[in-house]
Amino acid sequence: MREYLKFYIDGQWVDPIGSGTVDLVNPATEEISGKIALGSEADVDKAVKAARAAFASYSQTSREERLALLKAIKSEYEKRLPELAEAITEEMGAPASLASGFHTFLGTGHLDTAIAVLEKFVFEERQGDTLIVKEPIGVCGLITPWNWPINQVTVKVFPALAAGCTVVLKPPQLAAYSAQILAEILDAAGVPKGVFNMVQGKGSVIGSALSTHPDVDMISFTGSESVGVQISKDAADTVKRVCLELGGKSPYILLDDDGLTERVAAATSGMMVNSGQTCSAGSRLIVPQARMAEAKAAAAQAAEAVTVGNPAGNAAMGPVVSEDQFDTVQAYIKQGIDEGAELVAGGPGLPEGLDKGYYVKPTVFATTNDKVVAREEIFGPVLVMIGYNDLEDAVAIANDTDFGLAGYVDGNDQDKCHEIARKIRAGAIYVNGGFDFNAPFGGYKRSGNGREWGEHGFAEYLETKAIVG
Ligand code: NDP
Repeated sequence: MREYLKFYIDGQWVDPIGSGTVDLVNPATEEISGKIALGSEADVDKAVKAARAAFASYSQTSREERLALLKAIKSEYEKRLPELAEAITEEMGAPASLASGFHTFLGTGHLDTAIAVLEKFVFEERQGDTLIVKEPIGVCGLITPWNWPINQVTVKVFPALAAGCTVVLKPPQLAAYSAQILAEILDAAGVPKGVFNMVQGKGSVIGSALSTHPDVDMISFTGSESVGVQISKDAADTVKRVCLELGGKSPYILLDDDGLTERVAAATSGMMVNSGQTCSAGSRLIVPQARMAEAKAAAAQAAEAVTVGNPAGNAAMGPVVSEDQFDTVQAYIKQGIDEGAELVAGGPGLPEGLDKGYYVKPTVFATTNDKVVAREEIFGPVLVMIGYNDLEDAVAIANDTDFGLAGYVDGNDQDKCHEIARKIRAGAIYVNGGFDFNAPFGGYKRSGNGREWGEHGFAEYLETKAIVG
């Protein structure tokens, strides 16, 4: 049983001012795995004061000093990788291989990227009679979700620290353990007091106190659209910068090429990674209508091949994060059936052989783009296949969505894929499996604003000053 009952404020582990704790449940066993303290507005105020006080000196540190700090963090982060992976599996149910693989690797990648960007970033530039200076924006409130917990925290904390900002992190209750270990890593690395602070607790209390706080200069949030809207409203009175990374219903276009079967299979198993709880998941697979029968057969085979079970063992897919998330995903599956979408694989209820844990069957529907299952973010292992007549139709289907976080195009002709990528209205289009830590990540339309990852993510934490004359 884990017990994390202190907050990290001003370089120390301190008792909460607010009272109360919450038990956390292991989604694989439905048993209580530990508890965390629930903070109050007073805890947030204390953390913001510490961050404000530290900003005066930390914002003046040199590039070399911050590089040395990030390298010290890297050495501590690497020592704690196995513990981080174990915490991720326990808190949100990611299979051990995924937690010790991609989950923690993303943290390393964001750290390496923050170091590389800081090494070469141009903070000052003369344009005519004006000196343009980039400065850290100030105290940043960072509010993160549970789905890729270490990725979400590190993609904000590392560039913020690299830029010279001080931060107050509010991690999700559902993934509090890995955040606690990250705070221990930063403490061990010698982050100066007040530069990094962490308060655990309810979003409606801690997140809201950060969003409304007059001494917080910027909020960076990743999570649901409804909370993103609420944060924007809460932050409006104090005119702070708000960066939002929200949901998606990303299109995955497959060209009518040789290898379609293999590509359908890869896209289907890709959808099931992390139990489908990925904001940029390619959840709408757009395939040539004339080859729909072949595509459905390949998707069914791939979905049925995904082993579901104990994430601490060898299963490829663990549970979804919580009972609420399980109920939401089940309701969508039922709705898909009720609205007439063809069930290609999976369906409602627990996978065969499992009677405990929030496990969902890897599910595939074939339907049209007007159905609720094709329009709303399900955030579970549910893929929707949609047929297209020609490439113009494929692009129209891809863009017929409220979201615009990501898109995928796979085919034999890279130029043709790029031509289609240019026509999709979304923040990042991945062509034939592309992946890059320097690629900016963020949404068009209702998927948010601002960009994370790489130099663009670093720049989010900077203000621009003109010194004229
Ligand atoms: P939320 O948006 O509710 O939570 C994300 C973070 O915001 C958590 O730390 C949460 O705290 C916090 N929060 C909640 N309410 C407020 C508030 N009023 N002000 C400030 N912060 C707040 O996401 P959920 O975890 O509830 O997931 C719900 C749905 O959101 C998912 O089904 C999925 O569709 C989508 N989602 C999208 C993600 C993405 O990456 N784009 C990631 C996660 C979810 P706490 O939960 O601790 O109370």
